[in-house]
Formats: sequence, C-alpha cells, structure tokens
Amino acid sequence: MENPFENAMQQLSKAASIMNLDKNIHEILKQPDRVLTVSIPVKMDNGEVKVFTGFRSQYNDSLGPYKGGIRYHWNVTPDEVKALSFWMMIKCATVNIPMGGGKGGIIVNPKELSESELEKLSRGFIRKIWRNIGSDKDVPAPDVYTTPQIMAWMRDEYEKLLGKSDPGVITGKPIEQGGSEGRSFSTAQGGVYCVQELAKKMNWDPSQTAVSVQGYGNAGSFMAKILHELGFKIVAASDSKGGVYKEDGFNPEELFKHKQESGSVLGFKDTKEITNEEILELDTDILVPAALENVITDKNANNIKAKAVVELANGPTTPKADEILKEKGVTVVPDVLANAGGVTVSYFEWDQNVKSEHWSEEEVLEKLERIMVDAFDQVWETKEKYGVDMRTAAFVKAIERVGEKISF
Ligand code: GLU
Repeated sequence: MENPFENAMQQLSKAASIMNLDKNIHEILKQPDRVLTVSIPVKMDNGEVKVFTGFRSQYNDSLGPYKGGIRYHWNVTPDEVKALSFWMMIKCATVNIPMGGGKGGIIVNPKELSESELEKLSRGFIRKIWRNIGSDKDVPAPDVYTTPQIMAWMRDEYEKLLGKSDPGVITGKPIEQGGSEGRSFSTAQGGVYCVQELAKKMNWDPSQTAVSVQGYGNAGSFMAKILHELGFKIVAASDSKGGVYKEDGFNPEELFKHKQESGSVLGFKDTKEITNEEILELDTDILVPAALENVITDKNANNIKAKAVVELANGPTTPKADEILKEKGVTVVPDVLANAGGVTVSYFEWDQNVKSEHWSEEEVLEKLERIMVDAFDQVWETKEKYGVDMRTAAFVKAIERVGEKISF
C-alpha cells in the first residue's frame, strides 16, 4: 500500500534538491503545524450513538489562512489528510493566492447515512474544531463526498458558536448563502484552462484529441462536459462501478444524466464496458484521473498510452510512476496546478465574503483564467529551466514562495 504522506515527502525532497533548498526550511516543511483528531458522537436514526473520527491537518499558514477541503470517506487516514494538506500548501502557492495549506477528513461512508445523520455529523465536527478555524485562521471547503449543503450546515454551526456572522469561515457554500458564482465547476474549469494551454504548446487540434476521464463525480463530469463543448472528443469515462468506452466519442452531458438516473456510467448507450484498470491504459491523447490517490503506480505506469495526464484528483500518480512516465515522454500536468481552479474560486468566495461583495460568473471566470494561465506558463518555464517534470517545477515555484515567508 502506498502511503500518500511518504509520497508527498519524496516529491518535496526531489524539488528541494533541484532548487538547493535551505536545509532548515526543508526540515520545517516536513511536518504539519498541527493535526487535530476528534471524536464525533452522532445519535443515529435508530436511537443508537455512533462515534466517528475526524481530522483537520493545518500544514502551513505562511502565505495566509490554512485552506482546504473536508473529505467524507471510509478510507480517510491521518497520513492521507496530512498529505492532502501539504499538497494544498503547494497548490495555493503554485497559483500564487494568499492562502496556506489545510485539509480535513472524517472516516465515514456518507452514502450509508440519512440526511439528518449527515447534518448531525457535519455540525458535530464543527463543534469539535471551531476554535481552530475562522475566516482569518483556517477556511475549510468541500472535497470528496462533501457538498455545498454540508458547507452551509458547517457555517451555520460555526456562527452559532462564535455568536456572530463570519461567512468567510468556509467556502463552497450554496450561492444563496454566500457562495461564489462558478465555484461548482471551478475545479473542472481550471483543468480545462490547463488542457487548452497544453494543447497550444503541443499543437493539438481539439477535434483530433481524445480524452478519457477516470472518475465521473463533480470534477470529472464537468471537465468532460466543458471539453466536449470546446470540441474535444470524450471517449471514455468511469466511476467506482466500472467504465464505458466509445472510440469516436460520446456526449458527456447525456452520460451524466444516465448516471443520475441509473447510479452508474455503466450501460450507457452504444458504449463498450471497460474496467477501472482498462480506462487508465486506453490509447487516448489525454487521461484525466478525477477520483482518488494512487491510481497510476509503478505497476501500471508502463502501460499508460496517453500522451498527457491531467490530474484533476489529488495525488493520483505515485513518485515511481512519475519517473516512468517522464521516461516514456508522457507529460503530467500535476494536481497542484491542474485542479487548483477549485481552491482559486474558493479564495474568490472568501474574498467576496470578507468584502461583502458578489461577483458575476463572467468576472469570476475571467480572473480564474488569468490566474491559471499565468501559473501554467510559470510552471512550464520552470520545467524548461531545470529540465524537470511539471510537478517538480510547480513544487520549486511554490516552495520558493512559501520559503521566503518562513522565519526561524
Ligand atoms: N478540495 C479542493 C481541493 O482539493 C478545494 C479546496 C478548497 O476549495 O479550499 O483543492
């Protein structure tokens, strides 16, 4: 089993040696500032109390308040949350927004909870961590299996405890409760800007560019939809139950409707059924992992046929797989850049809340595009300068920015 935190530390060491990072700063960046571990008792619908375990890792706040989502998943571990909070620090610094790195998680299968149990769990988590969060301290957001509704419950609970309003304590809220226009599809939109920049560098024509998307949740399905509207060919998609493939492409919006109705992408008209392993190894131009960590490893990296991997998920590629892909000439647009659209619009949401403003979707997307294109160009330039992969280049840029602010 791959340990995501060990992998994150290997990525850090690789960048540190390329950039000749000060040893003391490297030491400081090897640990989070703190990891809160809390027990959350929830009275279930059957009257019995069940105690859940939750974590919040606050990695580093040199550039601004800790920032990052809260994940509800049965496989959450402290090391996963630590790794994800470290990547948030790198991500915010890569796109140069004034936020630090944080991440939370609760060990739970949210699909097994009723709506009222979910609400109690979400409020219970906030009751345990509320003194450590706030718009000027730590700003959570959605992640795997958490939603705008959950963010609204959390904000409400926090403000009750605080005794005053602080809408910027959490982002990814419903629009009518202080959420930002564009936040719901911003992770995907940021990934799309990266694909467009990459296509320019590589001289790819969208209509001749085939894309497969592993993971058809919020990020993956929106990415497929937007790319399709731009003329890219979406040829495969998968979810936890398996995948579907059609060589000349399909309409991802129709696939989304099919999944909503039937609970899975499987059985979508005119497609061939494939497995979750097969989707990674298809002969496509762009592979978008959009689910969880550690799906591209030293076991399958050699079989990847895509020309580029655009990481919408966090941590989908292990360090050993990165080496193999580089050797094979596969360009990896790393998570800390490719999926940074989500946290960037979260930062816009926080900024609007703090200033009591509401920006139009047009304004949000214009600002997002500028940030993503700038970050992409800077990472590309750094990659050329040091002759490294894009992940290492992003880390070098990010650590330069964080390192400057660390004093000891
Ligand atoms: N969970 C998202 C991520 O991994 C968004 C975090 C945020 O908006 O703060 O980037």
